[in-house]
Amino acid sequence: MRMPSLEGSDPEHSNLNSHIAEPAASGSGIFIECLPDVAPHSTKEKACSNRKLHVLIVEDNDSDVELALRSLRRDGFAPEYDVVKTAADFTSQVRNHSYEVVLADYSVPGWNGMESVQILRQEGLDIPVIVVSGALGDLRAVECIKQGAADYVLKDHLPRLPASVRRALREKKLRDELRRDQAELARSNRDLEQFAYAASHDLQEPLRMVATYAQLLEERYQGKLDENSDKYIHYVVDGALRMQTLVQDLLAFSRVGRMGHEPKAVDCKLAVQSAIANLQAVIQETGTRVIVQNLPTITADRPELVQLFQNLIGNAIKFRSTATPEVRVAVELQGANYAFSVTDNGIGIAPEHAELIFGIFKRLHTHTEYPGSGIGLAICKKIVEQNGGRIWVESQPGQGSTFRFTWPVKKEERRSYDHAHQSRG
Ligand code: ADP
Repeated sequence: MRMPSLEGSDPEHSNLNSHIAEPAASGSGIFIECLPDVAPHSTKEKACSNRKLHVLIVEDNDSDVELALRSLRRDGFAPEYDVVKTAADFTSQVRNHSYEVVLADYSVPGWNGMESVQILRQEGLDIPVIVVSGALGDLRAVECIKQGAADYVLKDHLPRLPASVRRALREKKLRDELRRDQAELARSNRDLEQFAYAASHDLQEPLRMVATYAQLLEERYQGKLDENSDKYIHYVVDGALRMQTLVQDLLAFSRVGRMGHEPKAVDCKLAVQSAIANLQAVIQETGTRVIVQNLPTITADRPELVQLFQNLIGNAIKFRSTATPEVRVAVELQGANYAFSVTDNGIGIAPEHAELIFGIFKRLHTHTEYPGSGIGLAICKKIVEQNGGRIWVESQPGQGSTFRFTWPVKKEERRSYDHAHQSRG
């Protein structure tokens, strides 16, 4: 299949020149042809003559193949190429060889060259496809680009082909770099999570020893040593206990998404009921009224969903004002997402702190004002984001807060939501 390189052929005297002179069939000015080559050739590229280029050509006309190759050679490329005429051959070639670029005629008898873009997508290959064709009209040319072709070059404007190839190669290089960076970022995030998990898990045992024996010292020797010793031992106990809480919270944060539960259909009403049951003592103690709208079924890890609602409802009660606490849990459909809200009539939050409070161990109050370590909202954020949603707060000091989070809706979930709302309405 692989064609020999035709370095020696003399373009100027080829009888194929008559083909170049033939005008394209349509008079429509395809504007893509007029696009300037946005990044001019680098001097390095120009100086580098005979840059090898692995090309797959989708073309049934040998003369057109030769013309495209000639245009590339003229501009410093040394194409190594294969020619295919059918989708089956195309698939087999891309599976077995690595190409830098595909030059595809728009319509080859039996299949549409643009399908090469779809085949590459199915095969998971990122190879730029440049459509090289007779005039097709503006609309179809734009359609090719929309469907994923890198560029569109008319056969009677072939001198533009090398610039188009260079641009496609540059863009591909950028995409590769981006993919590498993203993979590296994902890997280092995984490492960090692993580290946080291992550290918080393994720190628990030695910390338990420190806390236990410091408490033992406090019990046994309180009042038996000098006044400073009592104070110092108390500091050690207090510090160890606080560190234990922090480590446990960090472990809880690290565990989000690591428990290996398969997400499944969860009725949010039941999840909220569980959260309320877990908060029963404080709800009764404070006389809190919790109003829950009719909630849908979503795909989630159930314990995580309970924790999400529990943290938000728990905060709504913890950060209450002097008024009797009232918490409303509601939902509405927004495009492809459910938008949940948990609204309270508590102390509120200044807008400049609206982002900060979702950070790990970030809080706006001292421990004595309000207990807690500042991990609750960080856990909420992690749960929501791992499920493809977003969480934020809308609030003003003294005017209560509304925490909102989105959750992607599956098609079948949407159908039952619509059905439930239609039958109610
Ligand atoms: P914690 O409750 O342990 O402080 P969170 O991460 O749950 O940790 O909350 C972080 C901070 O966000 C809280 O310390 C508080 O200042 C603020 N906050 C959270 N929820 C509310 C709320 N419903 N009303 C007012 N402030 C809130």
